[in-house]
Amino acid sequence: MKIGHEFGAHPIATSCRMLGGLARRASGRHAALAAALALGVLAVGCSGDSDGGRRVLLIGIDGASPRVAMPMVEAGRLPNLADITRRGASGKLRSIPPLFSPRIWATIATGKSPRDHGITAFVKKETSEDKQLYLSHDRRVPALWNIVSERGFSVGVVNWWTTYPPEKINGVMVSDHFFPEQIKMIKQTFKDRHASTGALVHPQSWTARANELFENDAPLTSIADPFTENAALPKWVNREILSRQYETDAEVTRVALGIQQDFRPDVMMVFLPGIDRVSHWLWGNLEPEALYPPGLRPEPAAREAGAEALRRYYEFTDALIGLLARDYDSDDLVLVMSDHGFEAGVSMMLLTGEHETQASLDGVIFARGHGIEAGIGSRGAGVMDVTPTVLAFLGLPTAQDMPGRPGRFLTSDTLDTVQSYDGIRVERVTLKSSGREQEIVEHLRSLGYLEEDDAGGEPDAGAPSE
Ligand SMILES: [Zn+2]
Repeated sequence: MKIGHEFGAHPIATSCRMLGGLARRASGRHAALAAALALGVLAVGCSGDSDGGRRVLLIGIDGASPRVAMPMVEAGRLPNLADITRRGASGKLRSIPPLFSPRIWATIATGKSPRDHGITAFVKKETSEDKQLYLSHDRRVPALWNIVSERGFSVGVVNWWTTYPPEKINGVMVSDHFFPEQIKMIKQTFKDRHASTGALVHPQSWTARANELFENDAPLTSIADPFTENAALPKWVNREILSRQYETDAEVTRVALGIQQDFRPDVMMVFLPGIDRVSHWLWGNLEPEALYPPGLRPEPAAREAGAEALRRYYEFTDALIGLLARDYDSDDLVLVMSDHGFEAGVSMMLLTGEHETQASLDGVIFARGHGIEAGIGSRGAGVMDVTPTVLAFLGLPTAQDMPGRPGRFLTSDTLDTVQSYDGIRVERVTLKSSGREQEIVEHLRSLGYLEEDDAGGEPDAGAPSE
């Protein structure tokens, strides 16, 4: 393990944090030794250390719009986000166009601009016949999970964009390619026919546990899937696709809860994709119908059902946030954010919501924890500020080559900086070909995911469908 002074941090402060991190990290196997080590050393050398043991939970809710979330918080329909709002900061989170989810989620997780981190769109343009989603090794800089791992904190990462192949972090990473319905749908949209055949989880020894959590379909919340049985929705809405989003968000949450239960990581990062996907189908029901072509103007009853199903999905997401956050102390950082909002638009013929222009540039941020005053606004925070905010909260230096800064809603101790974290070596699980690629393509085709003549034409990096 490298020692903090390599990055220019204050050596004593860093070693105390390192010991704290080691103690936390070792708490499973060597709890007694770690506790003795931590108590002995912290009592002598780290009595002023104010950040011992505080944990961080980051939850990404793709495409959550302030236009929907904020009125619902005020109306009491999102009790968990309302709780964060009361206890901490909330408001808009400014994004960076173009609003392609993987590039923005990579910015959120690295503190770097897309030009610097290298994930600039959905797919790498190889040939028109051979497209491939960006993979984790296309990211040129370490992410938050690498930085905190390096500093001795334990980490859990579930379903964050562009985490395949998974990275060898100090904890568990369940890659976005672990969730089969989700990744099939994305690959179908972007005509990526490469199979994800390598390990989907780091460490591989946790794969069986991840599978067990994935397959347990006991309901997590009292909020039922608002799509499957909902015949009142506009006729052209594909209820089956929306139900799969509901399932995927539940699966992601179950796996994340399992990591929390098994490892209690210092830093936990969970990505819930559903609001974005559901909004692409249902957003139009919130907008004046004159914005849409006649075929996409539902009857008033269908329109109300569509708007209500979308709001219901926000309620479901809020309930999942409540489950994920339930074991965090009031001093821990709980930060929920989205990468962009939504606006009226017709794309790929049937989708009535998109995120293309300034109108959907703002996502949301909700943050509570030590150093965050109750009931304040987001104070101009942007997506580049998330990683610096987490670093500052953990007492780690921010990096001079990160364009953002810790959110102005967070009061932190004097901030150290380092020039860069880019020297951290990122190790990944090796990709192997299984030889089953053609079989998987045939399977996708049998499920209706692969059509030779996709009605949507040729989605590419600019496709607005995710
Ligand atoms: Zn989207």
